[in-house]
Amino acid sequence: MDSLEQLACWAFNCDRAQLYTGDYEADEENIKLFHEALDSYTRGIPVQYITGEAEFMGFDFDVNPSVLIPRPETEILVERSLALIEREGMTEPFILDLGTGSGAIAVSLTKLSPSCKIIASDVSEEALEVGRENAAANGVSDRIQFILSDFFERIPEKEKFDLVISNPPYIPSEDYDSLPLEVRSEPRIALDGGLKGLGFYGKIISESAKRLKDGGYLILEIGYGQTAAIKSLIESAGSYRDVKIIKDYNDIDRVVFAKRH
Ligand code: GLN
Repeated sequence: MDSLEQLACWAFNCDRAQLYTGDYEADEENIKLFHEALDSYTRGIPVQYITGEAEFMGFDFDVNPSVLIPRPETEILVERSLALIEREGMTEPFILDLGTGSGAIAVSLTKLSPSCKIIASDVSEEALEVGRENAAANGVSDRIQFILSDFFERIPEKEKFDLVISNPPYIPSEDYDSLPLEVRSEPRIALDGGLKGLGFYGKIISESAKRLKDGGYLILEIGYGQTAAIKSLIESAGSYRDVKIIKDYNDIDRVVFAKRH
């Protein structure tokens, strides 16, 4: 569905087929909603913030401007993580999701890997609220613990993880102002990765080395052109091997896997 169809279906409470066969109710309230939605859309508000909904890995997520809208590329991270869990025969993987936002990664992993347990952290209380709601709506609250934490800051030290996963902010600060208007309505805190977009990786990579079990994996989403820098951060941490890069649908390096040894 294109964006306008999505807005119309949302405002008239119908599906795409009904929209085109005229099989929907459009009272004054629906029409007003549609006009307001169009107005927001032309001002650069993303469709998902207008409708309050986004789809990720086939599941429904509530979103609002406190959280990044889940991206299709991030589904690659989830799919490859699931494949890894399977391949390594991890029976009850214990996973940390740093900067969970809407909870898209944590919730979909929990849905698709029925024995995993997850700690999902975020530095924003508003984001955690959205994450908690999404976990509840998808029926997985009992397997995700949400913690308000600036990366590792408040993650209990005793916890050792099979997987540490993160889609940190990675847009270079110097590029932020030229992002499309829609992207700039998302939380800057979830996008702006500092100088060259690399500001968070050093800390995540070195700290994860202490929090991963031997043989556990660090799994990171990365941005355009960051592969060499991130590989060298991983190498200089001295605790990882088997570094693997996965490309996205546009043939851009998007996900990095590294095994803790
Ligand atoms: N993929 C997002 C974008 O290009 C960025 C997400 C992030 O910084 N983690 O807008």
